[in-house]
Amino acid sequence: MKTTVSQRECREELVGLFEAMYAELSAWRALHPDASLDEIAAQVTPRRRRVMGAVIAQLACHEGNGVTVDGKLCPRCGERMKYKGEATCSKEHLEGEITLQRAYYVCPVCGETFFPPR
Ligand SMILES: [Zn+2]
Repeated sequence: MKTTVSQRECREELVGLFEAMYAELSAWRALHPDASLDEIAAQVTPRRRRVMGAVIAQLACHEGNGVTVDGKLCPRCGERMKYKGEATCSKEHLEGEITLQRAYYVCPVCGETFFPPR
């Protein structure tokens, strides 16, 4: 049940994102020849965060989408957790905005949730 995307596909997607970011920034720069370093950096930062968020999401999913045949044991009470399908998780991180599509587990006894990797 484990699904993985090849590292080559991951790399191609990231290179595409970087190229698109660079093209956008180059186009912006052409329209703003008198921009200061701070103004240029203000254009770069949000785009860099989107690209780095995609890098983190890809690295998090290198080992699959978190679905295991054996299931997961609840880290709080030890009960076997129930697989609830895939869910989308968005997380704000210092390095970027991260969106993951991952397996989601819930403990039927204590309600603990697990969305690997933590
Ligand atoms: Zn539990």
